[in-house]
Amino acid sequence: MSARVVIVGAGHAGISTALELREAGFTGPVVVLDQAGHDPYERPPLSKAWLAGAVSTGELAFRAREVYARRRIELRTGVRVDAIDRGSREVVTADGTRLPYDHLVLATGARPRALPVPGAGLAGVHRLHTLTDALALRAALDTARALAIVGGGFIGLEVAAAARKRGVPTTVVEAAPRLMRRVVSEPVSAFYHRLHEDAGCVVRTEAVVAELTGEDGHVTGVRLAGGATVPADMVVAGIGVTPETGLAGAAGLATGDGVLVDEALRTSDPAVFAVGDCARFPLGDAMERLESVQNAADQGRAVAAAVTGDARPYRDVPWFWTDQHGCKLQIAGIATGADEWAVVGSVQERRFTVLCWRRGALVAGESVNRPADHLALRRLIAAKASISPAAARADGFTLKDHARALAG
Ligand SMILES: Cc1cc2nc3c(=O)[nH]c(=O)nc-3n(C[C@H](O)[C@H](O)[C@H](O)COP(=O)(O)OP(=O)(O)OC[C@H]3O[C@@H](n4cnc5c(N)ncnc54)[C@H](O)[C@@H]3O)c2cc1C
Repeated sequence: MSARVVIVGAGHAGISTALELREAGFTGPVVVLDQAGHDPYERPPLSKAWLAGAVSTGELAFRAREVYARRRIELRTGVRVDAIDRGSREVVTADGTRLPYDHLVLATGARPRALPVPGAGLAGVHRLHTLTDALALRAALDTARALAIVGGGFIGLEVAAAARKRGVPTTVVEAAPRLMRRVVSEPVSAFYHRLHEDAGCVVRTEAVVAELTGEDGHVTGVRLAGGATVPADMVVAGIGVTPETGLAGAAGLATGDGVLVDEALRTSDPAVFAVGDCARFPLGDAMERLESVQNAADQGRAVAAAVTGDARPYRDVPWFWTDQHGCKLQIAGIATGADEWAVVGSVQERRFTVLCWRRGALVAGESVNRPADHLALRRLIAAKASISPAAARADGFTLKDHARALAG
């Protein structure tokens, strides 16, 4: 087990792979390369506790630097990988250095989509993906008089919550008919819509951005397709990400909205794996790409197992969370295509869970301030437990009892 593993990307997936290799007993060299010039850090707090000032920048680090050294993980930051030479099994860095590998792990993540409208390059237009973006955004919030957020997904709404907490007048502009449409059920969308409005945020759905207006090179507003303008001296675009597949594609690996991998997370070249936001993998009867810390961390563990000869199909139940205005939403499973749902608990008291079924099978559950439900759901969905909508709607129903029955 002295083969050499090279990992491109020191985000959640890359660092998880490196640490899990050591947990799995891998003794060979592990090298992690990242183009960013600073130590690896957690992204989720950037739009939540860190933006709200509750967590310091130092607290974002995954691990203290010594941990990498102690585990003999060679971390090289400020190093961009420009090419993969699959013939000689080497990666080539921007300064021309060639680094050999036996196993290569692509953990290159994703990059935010730019607003495809005139004015997107004006000063005062922000995005939120890296610590550098976050520092600029937080500084701008200190003096912002009117903030417009384009995109009513997780990132946009988390930023809206933090901005309102600081008293910044905020408008969210969303093209879809409801917030977070891609990832949550209607009742959860409606709940968060009200929550944001109650906090003084203006929410405009079915509002398509035509242009960002500006004066002297600085943004002054967001003009909508119908002609109305939302005045803003600061704009945040949160309209999704594009997987970083450039390296893989140039090396002839199969790609398509992500680096395509099999159940063991191997690309079309068995010496090369892909993990995290950049990987598109088989999940159920579809190919999915997930943007979550859980997916990145668990895929890192799965690759470490494969490299150490213990390959298992990657079938972990996806889960995700967001925090907005003190209401923590935890999602287990994937609700895409759900055709029936039931609400358990009290929406009014801000403690409820929405169960989602697709063709009669329980596929996802969204819990607001009900962490015990979320944990139960992760187990129930993993076990493909059968709970009918009628049973969930009956008096006295609890998810905990079902999860307990599963164990017993
Ligand atoms: C603001 C924000 C909030 C989030 N909140 C949540 C949340 O609440 N819950 C949740 O589950 N997820 C959240 N996410 C998503 C989560 O952070 C990502 O799913 C996760 O970071 C993906 O990890 P990754 O390692 O695949 O990619 P990344 O963390 O993006 O890391 C990829 C790394 O690869 C490096 N890289 C790329 N190309 C090269 C190259 N050619 N050479 C060298 N280095 C390269 C990049 O510099 C980067 O450091 C959030 C993301 C953001 C941005």
